[in-house]
Amino acid sequence: MEGAVTMPFGIHLYSTLKAKFKDMSPCIFCKIVQNEAPANIVYRDGQVTAFRDIHPAAPTHILIVPNRHIDSVNDLRPEDEALIGHLHTVAGQLAKQEGIAESGYRLITNTGPNAGQTVFHLHLHLLGGGQMKFKMG
Ligand code: 5GP
Ligand code: ZN
Repeated sequence: MEGAVTMPFGIHLYSTLKAKFKDMSPCIFCKIVQNEAPANIVYRDGQVTAFRDIHPAAPTHILIVPNRHIDSVNDLRPEDEALIGHLHTVAGQLAKQEGIAESGYRLITNTGPNAGQTVFHLHLHLLGGGQMKFKMG
């Protein structure tokens, strides 16, 4: 067909398979929740798991994740409100446990590319133990 731009078959096949396997591969945080990948777990209950970030950006850097896979805040439903409240309650308890409740800490959830979300399993960063360099918000 004149003017039509068709993708070479090899590239089409590669893109299709890449997208398919991306969807099929279990996400790293699901693997940590299910004890299928190693992590320094600091708290766990029936709803959430908390573990130390592999590349800490502060003296205390803990990730708190729901045990159930949720891609991001964009995918939350009204019935998830108690779960999100629980993530914050656990964050507050962990801040006390880490000794940073009084000195202060930051809770961050990055959502999407502009915010720099790299792991698409909803998580709360608990950051503290030193003065934050940037004031966000
Ligand atoms: P995001 O960029 O999505 O807001 O945060 C993802 C965080 O997960 C990053 O701070 C990154 O260092 C951390 N991370 C990525 N992969 C792993 C992992 O396999 N184990 C642990 N503990 N943290 C991870
Ligand atoms: Zn997941």
